[in-house]
Amino acid sequence: MAQDNLTAVLYGINDIRLEQTPIEEPSDNEVLLEMACVGICGSDVHYLVNGRIGDFVVEKPMIIGHESSGKVAKLGKNVKNLKVGDRVAIEPGVSCRICHFCKEGRYNLCKDMVFCATPPVHGSLRRYFKHAADFCYKLPDHMSYEEGALLEPLSVGVHACKRANIGIGSKVLILGAGPIGLVSLLVAKAMGATVVAITDLVERRLILAKQLGADKVALIDKNMKEDDTVKLIHNIFDGEPDKTIEATGAQSSIRLAILATKSGGCSVLVGMGAPEVQVPLINALIREVDIRGVFRYANDYADALDLVATGKVDVKPLVTHNFNIEQTVDAFEAAKSVSSGAIKVMIHCQ
Ligand code: NAD
Ligand code: ZN
Repeated sequence: MAQDNLTAVLYGINDIRLEQTPIEEPSDNEVLLEMACVGICGSDVHYLVNGRIGDFVVEKPMIIGHESSGKVAKLGKNVKNLKVGDRVAIEPGVSCRICHFCKEGRYNLCKDMVFCATPPVHGSLRRYFKHAADFCYKLPDHMSYEEGALLEPLSVGVHACKRANIGIGSKVLILGAGPIGLVSLLVAKAMGATVVAITDLVERRLILAKQLGADKVALIDKNMKEDDTVKLIHNIFDGEPDKTIEATGAQSSIRLAILATKSGGCSVLVGMGAPEVQVPLINALIREVDIRGVFRYANDYADALDLVATGKVDVKPLVTHNFNIEQTVDAFEAAKSVSSGAIKVMIHCQ
C-alpha cells in the first residue's frame, strides 16, 4: 500500500496546509478507506474563514472534510458488513450507540456524537482515513464516488422532508437555493410534493433550481416589506404552502417561512444563522403552525442512497467545480467566492 497520506489540515483562519500524516490502523469495528471524493460544505468554509461555528472553535490543527466517499482498503477484525474493494459512502457522524437517543433511533441527538471536522474531531480530507464500518454504505456499481459524497447533504434534505411529513399533495416552500435548499427540493419532489417553490436573493441560484425541477421560484428583495413578501409567496402558490423548509438561517427568511405557512401546516427550520432570532411566535400559535428543528440526519443515509440509486433523485448537477487534493487551497477559494458561481466543490483524493 502507498505510504503517501497527503492530508488537508486547517491550522487557523485562512490557513489550510497540505501535509503528510500517518496512515491509521483500523480498530476492530472500523475499516481503512482509500478516500475518493470529499465535497466542501458551507461549514468547512465557515471554519476556514471564522475559525469557529458557535461554541465549536478550531483551537488546534484539525483535518477538514466530512462529505465523503472511498474504497475499503483494510478491515478491522470484527467487520462483517464490508469487504476489501467495496466502494462506500461515509456517514461522518458516529454516535455512541448505547444512550437513550441512540436506542430510540434519534442518534443525531447523541451527546457523545463524534462528527468529522467538527472541532476537535478530525475530518476525512486525506488519502487514507479510518471510520466505523457500520457508518459506511456500500455503493452499487452504477453510482459514482461523487454521488456517494453528495449523500451527506442529500441526507439533510431527506431528514428535513421527513420532519415536514412531505407526501403526495404537499405544497412546499423552500427558502434558500444553496446546496441544502436544492437537495430539499430534489427530495420533496421525489416524495410526491405537488408543488415546490423556492426562494433566493440571487437570480443565478434560482435558474439552477428551475433546472433541478422547482415548479416556481421567488426572487426575494431584501428591501421589500414583510407583508409584501408574504403576499408574493401566496400569489405564487395561488394559495398557501402547507410545508415550509427554511434553509438560509436569515431572520427575515425564518419569519417569512412561519408567516407564509398555511394554518395547521408545518415549518421546518434547517438554516443556522445567529443563535437568537426574533420570530412571530404568537402568529404561529394562533394558526397552529408547527415549528420543527432539523439537526443533520438520523437513519437517512440509506434512504438518500436509494433515492439516487433508483434514479428518483439526480444530485450530479450540484457539482460545479472539481479539484485534486493537491489543489485544496484553490478548491476552498472557489467555494468561498460568490463570483465563482460554486454550488458544490468536489475534491478528488487520489
Ligand atoms: P448557502 O449559504 O450556500 O445557501 C444559502 C442560500 O440562501 C444562498 O443561496 C443565499 O443567497 C440564500 N439566502 C440568504 N438569505 C436569504 C433570504 N433572506 N431569502 C432568500 N434566500 C436567502 O448554505 P447551504 O450550504 O445551502 O446551507 C443552508 C443553511 O443550512 C445554512 O445556514 C447552514 O448552516 C444550514 N445547515 C444546517 C444543517 C442542519 O443540520 N440543521 C445542516 C447543513 C446546513
Ligand atoms: Zn448515543
